[in-house]
Amino acid sequence: MARARVLLLNAALGPLDYRVPREMSAPVGSIVVAPLGPRQMVGAVWDPARMPSDAEVGDNRLRNILAVCDVPPLREPLMRLIEWTADYYLAAPASVLRMALASSAALEGARTVVEYRPTGVVPPRQTPQRTQALERIDGRQGLVRELATIAGVSDGVIRGLVKAGAIEPVEVALDSLFPAPDPDHHQPDLSVAQATVAARLVAAVGAHAFAPILLDGVTGSGKTEVYLEAVAAAIRDGRQVLVLLPEIALTEPFLKRFAERFGAAPVAWHSDLRQSQRRRAWRAVAAGEAKVVVGARSALFLPFADLGLIVVDEAHETSFKQEDGVAYHARDVAVMRGRFEEVPVVLASATPAIETRQQVALGRYEALVLPARFGGAAMPDIAAVDMTADPPPRGRWLAPTLVRAVDETLARGEQALLFLNRRGYAPLTLCRHCGHRFQCPNCTAWMVEHRLIHRLQCHHCGHLEPPPRRCPECGEEDSLVACGPGVERIADEVAALFPGARAAVVTSDTITSPARAAEFVARMEQGEIDIVVGTQLVTKGYHFPNLTLVGVVDADLGLQGGDLRAAERSFQQIAQVAGRAGRAEKPGRVLVQTHDPGAPVIRALVSGDAEGFYEAETESRREAGAPPFGRFAAIIVSAEDKAATADVAERIARAAPQVEGMAVYGPAPAPLAMLRGRHRQRLLVHARRALDVQDVLRDWLGSVDWPTSVRVAVDVDPYSF
Ligand code: ADP
Ligand code: ZN
Repeated sequence: MARARVLLLNAALGPLDYRVPREMSAPVGSIVVAPLGPRQMVGAVWDPARMPSDAEVGDNRLRNILAVCDVPPLREPLMRLIEWTADYYLAAPASVLRMALASSAALEGARTVVEYRPTGVVPPRQTPQRTQALERIDGRQGLVRELATIAGVSDGVIRGLVKAGAIEPVEVALDSLFPAPDPDHHQPDLSVAQATVAARLVAAVGAHAFAPILLDGVTGSGKTEVYLEAVAAAIRDGRQVLVLLPEIALTEPFLKRFAERFGAAPVAWHSDLRQSQRRRAWRAVAAGEAKVVVGARSALFLPFADLGLIVVDEAHETSFKQEDGVAYHARDVAVMRGRFEEVPVVLASATPAIETRQQVALGRYEALVLPARFGGAAMPDIAAVDMTADPPPRGRWLAPTLVRAVDETLARGEQALLFLNRRGYAPLTLCRHCGHRFQCPNCTAWMVEHRLIHRLQCHHCGHLEPPPRRCPECGEEDSLVACGPGVERIADEVAALFPGARAAVVTSDTITSPARAAEFVARMEQGEIDIVVGTQLVTKGYHFPNLTLVGVVDADLGLQGGDLRAAERSFQQIAQVAGRAGRAEKPGRVLVQTHDPGAPVIRALVSGDAEGFYEAETESRREAGAPPFGRFAAIIVSAEDKAATADVAERIARAAPQVEGMAVYGPAPAPLAMLRGRHRQRLLVHARRALDVQDVLRDWLGSVDWPTSVRVAVDVDPYSF
């Protein structure tokens, strides 16, 4: 009798054994549907030797697998990646498998999808909704859901029209949905330096072996141009490519550039996809029809049929670190996927993370360097503006020097960018009468005023409320004052200072989809925007030749808080945003507003001594035993009940094993002591590099019990401290 060990999509369960009915075949990797109690659930067949079960069930008690899905079985390298990710990040394998199956994307099989289109037949029974639907659809084709959205009617109306013969099903082949990129569509003329680096990358693709490579080039040096040559090589080889980007807002400029180079769009994979698009993309990737996928971190777990290359662009970006659910770092998982798939992994960055530089120093990663901007463009001139010596007027945030520079830029018909990494109008609202501060009811966080939508918003849980007319504490009317600046407030200042200029606020509040990002790019390119006021969303990826001035409104902002990466992150962020200035013929200028022009980060940026800064940072990490020389893991205990949270945290602390080379701090309130209505306590584990901290944690946490109302999550290599 054939048995199969199945990992179901339920994080609370271990693997379960089932019988494979005689007429079915369910080899390792198959996606199957199996019964669980009265329910049915999707899962994947696993090699029993690699996934031990604690509940071996006799043959006679096994239940049957119900169906094997008509999709290619998961391949060994992806299954190894799922195992590794679960192991390393102490997550349930089922939670990682869920990412690979992209919820139910795997459920429908085959190399075709069924879409629907109008036939021109008038349905025997007309209703206003049917008329509206047929008018709006007007010759378009798509899934039922998509047509319903276009038509503004329910799915049922569309299905009714199908029954009535007014809309008919058509089979669409996956490869026609995802046209193949042409590697020779438009070949660029590479500079000598670029060609040398490109040749090395192409050779790595041709070697069909694991090779982690840092592509280290200043902003505007042509890193994208160069790695696209490696992408071309993989396509010529008939293999697939994964390009990871840190933000979905960046996919739009990338798609455009990709289309110029290859004459076809890559497959985009991000959270903004509709379920139908997700399903099509998933299956095209699994069938090998989708040659190039560009996506956010979740694309890492897609079931590529024949992966030939992975690129992680802006590899230093902290947004690659996932904080919710499985707390993984996409850059690190990408390298592991490259190892299992035996393909090169290119980490592209102008400001590589200290962890990555260390891998190069140890000889584990190869480094390829592009030292200068393409086409002789100069690096921008960076200067500090000392806010103590050259302060703005009261209630303003732009120093006279910066205001003059913006004026000059506008007079030349060029564009300026003012960077402040703070969404909304003001980070804090208080009552001028009694001093009451508006706090989120669910989180230890201030409510942030957003004037564009006329709301107070919590940036941690999303809680929204209208700004009250009266102070809830003292009852005083119209007494609320905004404290400190956010981008919307800077935009107000810009409007007052430069009434003739056209300004745009660019944040995740205004760029809510790839389409909005495309619109922003078009307006910049057509010169319809003079001044951009933006958050970190505008610091990377964009190339605007007429943008010549960058003003950093508050360079000290990122240095606040005790985060061990604060200085590094600040340096990276300012270097990236500075890199937006003067990327073509016109020289760029960068003004960095600070109260501490002597701070090492500022000095390094102004003098251009990145190397010196990195060395000093690396040395201080080494002395502190901080990553990459030592490691941290955070244990976060959370519950709605404060006492239960504290109690479990205490018990975990008391159960901490004495291990040579490991120290445990806490419990103490987590940096966000309350989040989404849950109290949070944190223990911080600090360990030597060589210690198998996961093993210690598994034993340790396995020895403590807690009620289901309490959640205990482990964050290995945490980013937020
Ligand atoms: P990076 O990714 O290092 O910031 P990009 O690849 O975006 O640099 O290149 C910066 C700009 O220079 C882009 O507009 C790009 O199209 C252009 N560029 C770079 N290399 C070449 C080349 N060899 N030929 C033509 N344009 C190039
Ligand atoms: Zn909140």
